[in-house]
Amino acid sequence: MRIHTRIAKPFITTLVLVLAVWLIALPLLEKSAYQKASATGEPVDLSLVHNAAFLISLTGLVIGLYISLLHTSRYVDDLKTLTRAAEELGEGKYQEINLAPMQNSLLEIRELREALQKTAEQIGDQFTAISKERAMLSAVLGQMTDGLLIADQNGRVRLLNRAAEKLFAIEEKEALDRSIVEVVRHHRLVELWEDTRNGPAKTITMEIGSMHKYLQVVGIPLGEELTGRSMLLFQDLTQTHRLEVIRRDFVSNISHELRTPMAGLKALSETLLDGALEDPTVARSFVVRMDSEVDNLIQMVNELLELSRIEAGYLIFDFLQIEPCMLIQKAVDRMMLQAERAGLTLSSNCPTDLPSVFADPERIAQVFINLIHNAIKFTQKGGWIQVSAYQDGQMVVFKVSDNGIGIAKKDLTRIFERFYKADRARSGGGTGLGLSICRHVVEAHGGKIWAESVENSGSDFYFSIPAVYLENHN
Ligand code: ADP
Repeated sequence: MRIHTRIAKPFITTLVLVLAVWLIALPLLEKSAYQKASATGEPVDLSLVHNAAFLISLTGLVIGLYISLLHTSRYVDDLKTLTRAAEELGEGKYQEINLAPMQNSLLEIRELREALQKTAEQIGDQFTAISKERAMLSAVLGQMTDGLLIADQNGRVRLLNRAAEKLFAIEEKEALDRSIVEVVRHHRLVELWEDTRNGPAKTITMEIGSMHKYLQVVGIPLGEELTGRSMLLFQDLTQTHRLEVIRRDFVSNISHELRTPMAGLKALSETLLDGALEDPTVARSFVVRMDSEVDNLIQMVNELLELSRIEAGYLIFDFLQIEPCMLIQKAVDRMMLQAERAGLTLSSNCPTDLPSVFADPERIAQVFINLIHNAIKFTQKGGWIQVSAYQDGQMVVFKVSDNGIGIAKKDLTRIFERFYKADRARSGGGTGLGLSICRHVVEAHGGKIWAESVENSGSDFYFSIPAVYLENHN
């Protein structure tokens, strides 16, 4: 049945009934009125019959019209509900769409409702899937250590991950839609983006002095689906570059350190061969000097071996429960003669109520010797060195202080790095490995090592070791 026929059905039904009244019921009523009149002999009065039929028809028509209107207005209401739902779908409010079944409505309206409801649900499912994928992507982008920036063909930033935010000191929401030139603020990066936009992928390495960063940047065009968009990937090679510089420094440093005693040894042996051997007194003094040069060489090689063993994890520690003051005393006793020879006063100050520590005494002695040895090296004649200890929470902190040349602020955090020497001209003999070894040893004890210093006035080196049986001392 066609839709407008179905909408008008109640009215048409009434119309058919009215017609039936006029065509079937009225002739029957008229006939019975004629029969009644002929039986009684009274004249026929059809007005009553006609009036009744007219009234019945009129009432029927009014009722039919009313029912039709009632149905139509319900269909209109249903259509309005569906229109509103379609609009909401258009506005993306698919979650709010929950259409009640329209059982008494037209088939077409019911079908439309079902289609709309299904569409809303499908959009919801797709949106959830897209949201999940987005969340995954943004988690990956957020966790990436490499910086990532995506720009469109007009150079507007479209994406900036957390690492890139940090690199360029700008938040993504601020950077979005801004020009890449404003965000990266470096002509080489802008050139790379331009080259990538018009050509194949390209890699550059560059140093951004203002940020103290050494970067490898890869520019990648994003292909046909995202025409014109390109991605810049920033790999921070600062650390690797710094290690490379340190390694290169070390090679030149170690060559220099080796060459000096070697050249000394060569000169001494040549002089001996040239005739000094004949003079026993001179020969003896030469051999003593050769012996000390060889000692230097041995120390250097030992430190190198030690460090490589520690770093490879081959060093075995022999932990004992030990009094902190015993550790200090042993170290001071061992270094006293050396300090006196250098014209320095070496003293100790250790409170007797300190808790014991759990330490490998030989290794801790090595740390003390390194620190005191440095203090001797970097303190002028007449100066002093003091070794002390105190408790700080669950740790015992050891301190080696001197009133020597001190360390510049810029070097203070770096002196614990392998091969790092603060000021080559002033640092005398040494490989720059001592403090690095100390750091490894202290960290293997579960402690920390650090330094404080004022240039030209002295240095304080601290290292902490966890205390044991702390409850006995509280
Ligand atoms: P080195 O073999 O050169 O002594 P270290 O690792 O022991 O190597 O020390 C690294 C650098 O730290 C030294 O070269 C020196 O510049 C600085 N340094 C260490 N201890 C002191 C100190 N007590 N006073 C001043 N500078 C120091």
